[in-house]
Amino acid sequence: MNEIITSKLLPEVLDFLSQKQFGGFAGGKDLFSAQDCFIVSHDPGSGEKIAEIAELDAAEVNHAVDAANRAFLDPSWHDLSIGERGALLHRLADEVEKQKHVLAQIESLDAGKVEAQAVGDIQNFVDTFRYFIGLSQTVPTRTTLAVSGHEAWTVRQPWGTCAFIFPWNFPFLLIGWGIAPALAAGNTVVIKPAEDTSLSAIYLAKLAKQVGIPDGVINVVTGRGETTGSALSQHQKIKRMSFTGSPEVGRLVAQSCGHNLVPVKLELGGKGAAIVFDDLDIEDTAQKLVNAITFHTGQVCCDATRWLIHEKAYDDFVSACIEKLQSVKIGHQLQETTQMGPVVNEKQRQRILSYLDKGKSEGANCLLEGGTISVNGCEGHYVKPALLSGSLDNIAAREEIFGPVAYLARFSSEQEAIEMANQTDYGLANSVWTEDRNRATRIAEKMIAGNSWINAHNVFAHGVPYGGINKSGMGGGVLSIETLMDYLRSTSVVRPL
Ligand code: NAD
Repeated sequence: MNEIITSKLLPEVLDFLSQKQFGGFAGGKDLFSAQDCFIVSHDPGSGEKIAEIAELDAAEVNHAVDAANRAFLDPSWHDLSIGERGALLHRLADEVEKQKHVLAQIESLDAGKVEAQAVGDIQNFVDTFRYFIGLSQTVPTRTTLAVSGHEAWTVRQPWGTCAFIFPWNFPFLLIGWGIAPALAAGNTVVIKPAEDTSLSAIYLAKLAKQVGIPDGVINVVTGRGETTGSALSQHQKIKRMSFTGSPEVGRLVAQSCGHNLVPVKLELGGKGAAIVFDDLDIEDTAQKLVNAITFHTGQVCCDATRWLIHEKAYDDFVSACIEKLQSVKIGHQLQETTQMGPVVNEKQRQRILSYLDKGKSEGANCLLEGGTISVNGCEGHYVKPALLSGSLDNIAAREEIFGPVAYLARFSSEQEAIEMANQTDYGLANSVWTEDRNRATRIAEKMIAGNSWINAHNVFAHGVPYGGINKSGMGGGVLSIETLMDYLRSTSVVRPL
């Protein structure tokens, strides 16, 4: 590995990476492929190989699901009181917090995430665990029903093995959002991380064993989507499935779950809008939206990628954005000065470039060119931020690009702005920016999506449900009390009197 990069890595990270070949983890043991197949994982910032990850097949996925099913019934997990289970999960969260900087470097190197942002992701995982552990101690799992002529009650119990398939953009944070409620409710889990970013999931599974979580409660199956992911989503012995990723793959996962009648939660892509009025500080709003579109190089599902600007503010807003985007410091994700790192791989870079080409060929105006950029001494996958404008029928305004590309359009009335925001098949997250609280509330409630934010974008507070509708997802979302209840099945018990 590049010496400049290795010199920045903590000894614990170098020690972890010295293993070179990594298996999945099932039943408390490493899980390697019987065929000895591996996928190479690269540092997106330097393009260099950092690890080989086991490519597991259906038989190995089956082994992991069996391990999770056995662990679910084992008294060492199944018979724990809610308090005992919570205490054990707190140990895991505490250990992750202690090793926050180690995990953040692993995540940063593997996913191309700016190191300070990776630290935030790891802390978010810890906070998510603490939130759901706390909730699990307080939600009633037994409710007496007042029904004439009957003694009746409902009881909520964990389902069993819950499967999770995750994307590469927030590998560790999303694992927290997914598995924390499932584990706090008493289920066991099988995690399939994305093939490009499996290292933090593997590290977590080993930490879980170290802190005393019983073997088989947290399992990881590594490998490609078409093989490992597909085998997991088709497995008949999982009790629930949660998928986070693209709508195209979400549809396949939902088909498998539909066939097996397994409940499924889908958290999919987005094409969010930001509606900006002319009554607030335009420089400040431009800075916040520039921060949002460059955060993790625009590889954020809930980003505002369609910027709808009031005609009176449009020219000032565009000038401010261009100036701010041009000054964003692009570099390797482990360099302290870097504000925007690489995209995850060459395929993703080519996807962004091809959307810029297609957008322009369909008539979009190019306000800021974008395109590739090289970073001294690093052969990674870098792109510059880009700004397009024009008709919202343009492909670059309709489809998810997943890069630092915003599409601008102007509006003249509130009604027009709402119609423009709702001109999409997606429904994940939008924002409205205005000093007028009544107008903000009206618009926030009329934009059709799972989430509406006011004078901010990308806001996540534990306790506020987050999820998509339409092409952005289904199945209840994450981060709230409803999510915990999703992982507790209900039985009604009735005795006629
Ligand atoms: P992807 O759909 O290509 O892959 C996601 C996961 O699915 C990976 O682990 C992959 O290996 C697996 N997979 C691929 N093919 C599969 C198959 N046939 N069967 C089962 N599993 C399969 O998505 P990606 O490129 O990794 O991530 C980007 C997408 O994720 C974007 O659309 C983004 O908006 C979305 N996303 C959504 C949220 C949310 O909370 N709504 C969060 C993060 C990312």
